[in-house]
Parts: sequence; C-alpha cells; structure tokens
Amino acid sequence: MQGRPLPEPSPLTAGFWEAAADGRLVLQRCDACGRHRHYPQHRCPHCREAAWRWAAANGRGRIHSFTVTHHAFHPAWTGRTPYVVATVQLDEGVRVVTDMDEDPAIVRIDAPVEVFFEDTGGGRALPRFRIAGRPASAPADRDGRPAARRGAADTHTTTEGNT
Ligand SMILES: [Zn+2]
Repeated sequence: MQGRPLPEPSPLTAGFWEAAADGRLVLQRCDACGRHRHYPQHRCPHCREAAWRWAAANGRGRIHSFTVTHHAFHPAWTGRTPYVVATVQLDEGVRVVTDMDEDPAIVRIDAPVEVFFEDTGGGRALPRFRIAGRPASAPADRDGRPAARRGAADTHTTTEGNT
C-alpha cells in the first residue's frame, strides 16, 4: 500500500473495523440510555452503563470544524498536502475525526458530508468523509493529488508505493 500507518483493531474496536470492511459505519449505542458514543469506550459517558451494542449509523453529518494541513507529518502524506482534517457531527449526535477527500477550497463549516470507505487492502477499509451529493467518480482533487476513493472510475490514482 502507500506505507501509511493504519488502525490496529483491538477487542473493543474490532466490530467497528469489521463493519467498515463491509462498507458500513457503526457506532456504539448504550443498552441503558440508548445514546450513541464514539470513539469506542467500555462504558457510556452519559450514564456509565457497561452494556452496549453496535448500531448502524446513516453515514451522514455536517462539518463541525476543520483544519487544512500544509506540511506532511509522515512520509506517506508527502504529495497529498494540503489536505483537510475535519471533525464531523454525525446525524446520530456524535463527532468523528476524518481526513477528507476534498479540495480544501470547497470545505466549509456546516457543509453536509457523507461517509465513504477507502479500501486499504488486506480485507480492511477506512471510513472517510466527503461533501455530500458528489458523485463518487467526480474529480474533486486537484491534479497530482492521490485519490483515495473506492472505485475504478477515478483518474487521479496514485503511483506512490503502488505495489
Ligand atoms: Zn448510557
């Protein structure tokens, strides 16, 4: 792959990553108070109940906040700058942090976003977000920026470490 660091599933997070590999976004939902939470935690931050289950999320939300990164902090991101890291407020009421597959010039606070799943190989996938309503094959990226979308229609594929 591209040599970038990828998540290491733990017993607590394995269900999240298994769902992502299947193209589904799930969140923990408390058995007692019914509230969602993210990132995965052993107890509900609202009522301290330990019982929970994975619940499907609809994959939609809005940009709560974002930053534009201009300096790669890891060699795998060289050539991908500038890129957007956003906090997304999901419809389920929790926030997730994501790097976005978008031109920073079009990213705005409160913009609607939707999840997509980047195939990272080895039967794993990374949930990421993009501006909602954009066709998956739309050329959102500027020339030369590696695309990270699942799907063969995108012409902006990377050659970086492509083995
Ligand atoms: Zn609870």
